[in-house]
Amino acid sequence: YCGFVAIVGRPNVGKSTLLNKLLGQKVSITSKKPQTTRHRILGIDTEDNYQTIFVDTPGLHIEEKRAINRLMNRAATSSLGDVAMVVFMVDGTHWTKDDEMVLGKLRHLPCPVVLAVNKVDNVKDKEDLLPHLEWLGQQMKFSHILPISAEKGTNVEKIREWAKDLL
Ligand code: GDP
Ligand code: MG
Repeated sequence: YCGFVAIVGRPNVGKSTLLNKLLGQKVSITSKKPQTTRHRILGIDTEDNYQTIFVDTPGLHIEEKRAINRLMNRAATSSLGDVAMVVFMVDGTHWTKDDEMVLGKLRHLPCPVVLAVNKVDNVKDKEDLLPHLEWLGQQMKFSHILPISAEKGTNVEKIREWAKDLL
């Protein structure tokens, strides 16, 4: 086993917040300002009898005109080479075309992809999520679809468990 768990999604969906929550410490900078994570950040989750390497990726960008965006896209997609599981993160309060673009890059991966719908603590009417989830579910097969709050920790343990199941 030499896999990583890559956390992938457009900027600002909460990837770095999730990594920090999984590790129980602040290893990745989180910010309201998009593009705060510019490189891959590896975090090793050391439990009693196993370890999982989580990779926080820079957000993927549709716009590749700027060199910095090109570099960040490369840093994000190069994480997908020997990946054991992908956590595809979206923001349940805010959907954009960039989510679709990221999804397009994940569609043909051989590893399991978990769809994590983040910031559910801020979703007032959960029914509003359904059309988006339905659409996403039609685009590709997810191994799980999970509502989470990276900030509050809701359902974050599930991700740890599923990553462990791959060991
Ligand atoms: P990244 O660009 O995907 O790494 O996103 P960050 O982890 O930097 O988070 C972007 C913003 O979303 C920050 O202001 C976070 O505090 C906020 N955020 C992250 N997770 C949650 C969550 O579960 N609920 C809420 N309400 N806000 C969140
Ligand atoms: Mg980040």
